[in-house]
Amino acid sequence: MRKTLPVALSLLMSQAAFAEVVVLQGATLIDGTGRPPLKNAVLVIDAGRISAVGPADKVKAPPGARALDLKGRTIIPGLINAHGHVGLVVGGQSRADGYTRENVQTQLLQYERYGVTSVLTLGLNRDLVYDVRDEQRRGTVPGATLFTAGRGIGVPDGAPPVPSAPDQVYRPKTPEEAVANVEEAAARKPDYFKIWVDDVFGKFPKMDPAVFKAAIDAAHRHSIKVASHVFYLGDAKAVITSGVDALAHSVRDQPVDDELVAMMKKRGTFYVATLNVDASFSAFADDPALLDDPFLTAALPPDSVQQFRSPEYRAKVAADPNVPKARAALENGMRNLKTLHARGVHIAFGTDSGANPVRIQGWGEHRELELMVKAGLSPMDALVAATRGSATMLGISDRGTLEKGKRADLLVLAGNPLDDIRNTRKLVSVWHDGREIQPLVASASAR
Ligand SMILES: [Zn+2]
Repeated sequence: MRKTLPVALSLLMSQAAFAEVVVLQGATLIDGTGRPPLKNAVLVIDAGRISAVGPADKVKAPPGARALDLKGRTIIPGLINAHGHVGLVVGGQSRADGYTRENVQTQLLQYERYGVTSVLTLGLNRDLVYDVRDEQRRGTVPGATLFTAGRGIGVPDGAPPVPSAPDQVYRPKTPEEAVANVEEAAARKPDYFKIWVDDVFGKFPKMDPAVFKAAIDAAHRHSIKVASHVFYLGDAKAVITSGVDALAHSVRDQPVDDELVAMMKKRGTFYVATLNVDASFSAFADDPALLDDPFLTAALPPDSVQQFRSPEYRAKVAADPNVPKARAALENGMRNLKTLHARGVHIAFGTDSGANPVRIQGWGEHRELELMVKAGLSPMDALVAATRGSATMLGISDRGTLEKGKRADLLVLAGNPLDDIRNTRKLVSVWHDGREIQPLVASASAR
C-alpha cells in the first residue's frame, strides 16, 4: 500500500511531478467544448495528461493518488493566445535590441504565471525563437508553450512600424523576394506565418497584393498556414481571396458585410479580434483606477506604473491623433466580433500582447476576455474561443479542452467566470503539462 511507504520515499515521489498521479476533485468544470459546466467534477492528471475526467459518481480517484479538494473552485482550460509577441519590450520600453534569449524566456514565464499556457508569437521574432522553441520541446525551457510565426512579411518603410533588428522581419519589394523569404523561413518550420496588410492609419504604403499572394502561396506549398494583420474590410476580403487562413485582428474601418461572412464560412477562415489592441491606446489614461489593481501592476515594471499614472502620460494620450481613431476602431471591432460570432465564423483568441509597452502580457489576455464579453459574446463563448478556438486555429488538438487524453493545461479559479468573466483573474493555481505553477498574483480568496 502507498500509505505504508516510508516518509522519505513518498516525499521523493511527490517531487517527481510526472510520477505522481493528482486528482482535482469537487470543482465546477468548464471543459472548453462549450458544454454546460459540470458540478462536483473529478479530473485525474497522470504523466502530464488528463487520464480521466467526469462527474464524481462516475470517475474515481485511483488508489495512491494525491487528491486536492477544490470544492467552491472553478476549473477552465489554460488560455491559448493565438496572437502574442515576445522580445519586443524591455523594462517597459519598445527596443530593437530586446530580442534576447533571457527576455524571451522571462516573458514566457510571465504568460504562464497569468494562466496563458500556450502562445503563438505572431511575427517579429529573431531566428533565436526556433532554438528556444525546440529546446522547450525537449523539456529544458519553462514557461508558456511557445509556437511561433518567426519573422513574418512586412512592407519596406511600412508596417509593422516598430523598432526591430534587421533579422526580425522580412520586407520584400517584389513577389519573387517574398517567395525567397518564405522559403528561407520554412526551413526553420514555423508553426504559422504572418503578413502585415495595413497602412497604419493612412501613414504608410500598403503591401502590394501580388506580394501577399505570392507569400501565402509559398507558405501553403510548405503546408504552413498564414495569418494576416488587417484593419480594413477591403483588405480582409483581398487576403482571404488570396487564401489566408486567419485574420489576426478585427476589421475596424466599417461593419462587416454578408460577403465577408460568406467568404470566411466557406473557407473556414479564423477571426482573432485582438480588441485589446485598440483599447490599449488610452486604457490607462481613461481609467487610471486600473493601475490600482495588483493583478495588472504585477505584470509591469514599477517605472511603467509611475509613467501611466503621470499627468504627462495623460496629456500625451490626449494629444495623440491616433487615439480617437483607435476608439472608433474599437467600437467597430466589438460590433464586428459580435456579428461574425453570431453568423458562425470560427473565432479564436489573441491580444497582441508584448507588441508594445501598453499591451501587457498576461494581464492583456484577461482584459481581452472582458472586452469580448462587453462586445456581446457570452462568457462561455469567450472562453471557448480562448481555448478550443485557438487550439483549432493552430491545429494543436492535444490541448484546448479538458477531455481524456489531452494535456493537463488548466486554471483553478476562486470564482466562476460564467457569473463574471473577470473571475478568470482569480487564479488559485495554474497547471501546465500536469505541473502546478504558482500564479504571479494568486487570488486573495485562495490564500
Ligand atoms: Zn501583433
